Amino acid sequence: MKNLFDVTGKYALVVGASSGIGRQFAKALAEQGANVAIAARRVERLEELKAEVEAFGVKCVPVACDVTSEESIITCVETVKKEFGRIDILCNNAGIDIFNDFFTYSTEDWDKTMDTNIRGMFLMSREVGKLMKEQNYGKVINTASIGGRFASEGNIAYYASKGAVVNFTRGLAADLAPYNVTVNAIAPGVFDTELTHDTLSTPFGQSSLQRVPMKRFGEDGDLDGILLYFASDACSYCTGQTIFVDGGLTMLL
Ligand code: NDP
Repeated sequence: MKNLFDVTGKYALVVGASSGIGRQFAKALAEQGANVAIAARRVERLEELKAEVEAFGVKCVPVACDVTSEESIITCVETVKKEFGRIDILCNNAGIDIFNDFFTYSTEDWDKTMDTNIRGMFLMSREVGKLMKEQNYGKVINTASIGGRFASEGNIAYYASKGAVVNFTRGLAADLAPYNVTVNAIAPGVFDTELTHDTLSTPFGQSSLQRVPMKRFGEDGDLDGILLYFASDACSYCTGQTIFVDGGLTMLL
């Protein structure tokens, strides 16, 4: 039977691939046969990942990219286009999270969060979108968050940025739909990564764990299924959607 989720020979760009969820995205796509360009600021991390990705028998191109810089994004996309000739799959996954009290939340931290989590996503999608339009083919996968639907105290910019990702996904899906490009978002629950590690052992982290119906944090591999669905031709008529992968956390009353 045909493998609906096949991505063999496709060309992917994973942004924010130097650690955590993006690193796992790059490995999952490579394991299923996609060639993967990996982008982030920490190039030494990308070089380490390159060897792991290439062990799956695919091509891997590490690219230095800071998504807060328009110039860096344009150069990154040009580099990948030169190396691969096309980009079939774009994972917009770069993200930061700066906790602080609302009344002392600095303008700099607000701007930094917005520049990374949503402005960078817009710029990257615009540049790769031009290529996907020419190709009349593409799969864009944005990383949202449970914080795109719900919020709590002390993290205002993150919640605002992730809420924006959810509606950006709808708008981008509408703009790219005529060109056979689907755009969807994955909203992870709580995963143990560099972004979250320090907060998981705090009372806030432990109370989050207690609220997860599956009684565990997300692990490497828990997002692979939805990633491959959105990245492959199994996802031929689903666009503008955000799927929550959170052990049931956001389905509770
Ligand atoms: P990590 O901190 O492990 O990874 C974040 C990634 O984003 C890194 O590769 C980092 O690379 C990259 N990044 C950050 N800033 C920039 C920048 N300016 N330019 C380019 N790349 C950048 O965290 P996670 O893996 O947890 O986070 C990945 C995504 O998942 C984020 O969007 C996050 O909001 C989201 N998410 C995570 C959850 C979790 O529980 N872990 C839950 C919900 C959503 P580098 O520093 O090398 O540039």
